[in-house]
Amino acid sequence: MNSIELTENGLIKNPDVVLIGGGIMSATLGVMLKKLNPEMTIQIVELLSSVALESSHAWNNAGTGHAALCELNYTPLNENGEIEIDKAIKINEEFELSKQFWAFLTEEGVIENPSDFIRRVPHMSFVNGEENVDYLKKRFEAMQGHHFFDDMEFTSDHDKISEWTPLLDKGRNDSEKIAVTRVQNGTDIDFGSLTKVLFNYLVSLPGVELSTETAVRDLDEEKDGSWEVKVKKVGDFFSEKIHTPFVFIGAGGGSLKLLQKSDIKEGRGFGGFPVSGQFLVCKNEDLVNEHSAKVYGKAAVGAPPMSVPHLDTRVIQGKKSLLFGPYAGFSPKFLKRGSMLDLLSTVSLDNIKPMIAAGLANMSLTEYLYQEVMNSHVDRMDILREFFPDAKDDEWELVTAGQRVQIIKKDEVKGGKLQFGTEVVASANGSMAALLGASPGASTSVAVILEVLDRCFTEQMQTSDWKEKMKKMVQTYDVTLSENKDLYEEVNPKVNQTLGIQA
Ligand SMILES: Cc1cc2nc3c(=O)[nH]c(=O)nc-3n(C[C@H](O)[C@H](O)[C@H](O)COP(=O)(O)OP(=O)(O)OC[C@H]3O[C@@H](n4cnc5c(N)ncnc54)[C@H](O)[C@@H]3O)c2cc1C
Repeated sequence: MNSIELTENGLIKNPDVVLIGGGIMSATLGVMLKKLNPEMTIQIVELLSSVALESSHAWNNAGTGHAALCELNYTPLNENGEIEIDKAIKINEEFELSKQFWAFLTEEGVIENPSDFIRRVPHMSFVNGEENVDYLKKRFEAMQGHHFFDDMEFTSDHDKISEWTPLLDKGRNDSEKIAVTRVQNGTDIDFGSLTKVLFNYLVSLPGVELSTETAVRDLDEEKDGSWEVKVKKVGDFFSEKIHTPFVFIGAGGGSLKLLQKSDIKEGRGFGGFPVSGQFLVCKNEDLVNEHSAKVYGKAAVGAPPMSVPHLDTRVIQGKKSLLFGPYAGFSPKFLKRGSMLDLLSTVSLDNIKPMIAAGLANMSLTEYLYQEVMNSHVDRMDILREFFPDAKDDEWELVTAGQRVQIIKKDEVKGGKLQFGTEVVASANGSMAALLGASPGASTSVAVILEVLDRCFTEQMQTSDWKEKMKKMVQTYDVTLSENKDLYEEVNPKVNQTLGIQA
């Protein structure tokens, strides 16, 4: 490693890599890059006073290890009356990659105690009404045929449901048609703890600097394809400039603005629409202890997929809690600690057409958000009572979680569309990648970062050196586990064992 020159504020002047944002995505990319090339110098720039304070913070997301075991929006019913399970298979596979990487870090001693961030919590789906019960049964039959979902169980028997998850049946009329599926080996994850562990490790390595309370203000591409990154320490009057051949914009809700500032052609036409999340938290310890599951229901009409209601066991810093939500809300901020001008400041001539088109095509979302914002505490409790009929108004209080910025992009036919996934936008020369959107989110961080590596470090990823190192970190990164039952049955239990989540 060459000698490292620092700016007045202690930033590396010419790092090999700049990671913008101290969330799970930058943390994952940073650790992987240092494992692939220990000589690499990395400058991390974080706006807030510490890492993991925005979406990756435990209280700002739902902590579900999304493996498509319980989320009904990943298994739609198509026009032919068949359940489509392709998306569920893809998400499960991506979550397996994340677990493999975390298991590798555990074996390496980077993660000392996986139970500090991941634990086994059954994942269940819950529906009521005859039509929905038929749907859930059909979904169960479609998924059971695949080795990822072999362990799924189904019941429409009230006594069994009461045994699996007592709160769901308490106070419910026996004649009501309800059904539940259960997969015992689901997970609850404290992504905030994990992010901190990864950054603590990263900054302990030579050639890595983390600058907190420092904002990236601008990005300019130089003639040779490298980047001048303008950064400003909170409270300082002047900005500083650092130079790098590669920038990762992992700024969560702040990514769109920075992508626009970079002015790469691939980033043109993107817009963002923020949806905030709120949860009800249970204050009654007895109820908290009675429930041990993540129970996902069906989304209301017009609701965005990430607003599917769920009754959730969470364990944050060793303390068990019970949450219900998310209730969607509207705020023009792109980050929880962002500015009221965020939405307006990202509207430009490039994206105004797609934004209007997406808005007009999603009137049901607008109506849904309006309804959610207007809801009183009792209205929210009534939604909870569909899951837990005995819930008492004074035993639950509202907390605000993080902001998610949904992607709006150009569409040849419709002019513009709203997209609920995650998208890696990379420059053609691979010198920059930005991450937009936030769903399925942190659970699939490893798959997202593998895409960044493939697109921006294409040549290095083809070398036997990097391939070997990658295989150690993420054992099946170049194999499709969904098509390889034997390998899945060999790898999955070992990984779960290492993470302490095997039955
Ligand atoms: C309500 C809600 C529920 C969710 N539930 C789940 C779930 O159950 N399971 C799941 O897997 N995922 C879930 N997610 C998604 C998940 O939280 C995110 O996908 C993930 O945390 C994103 O990580 P990140 O590193 O991209 O962003 P973040 O964690 O938001 O980090 C971005 C960082 O960039 C910094 N930043 C921004 N602008 C600048 C700038 N100009 N200069 C320097 N720094 C900057 C911010 O301060 C922040 O620290 C949920 C999200 C929300 C909001």
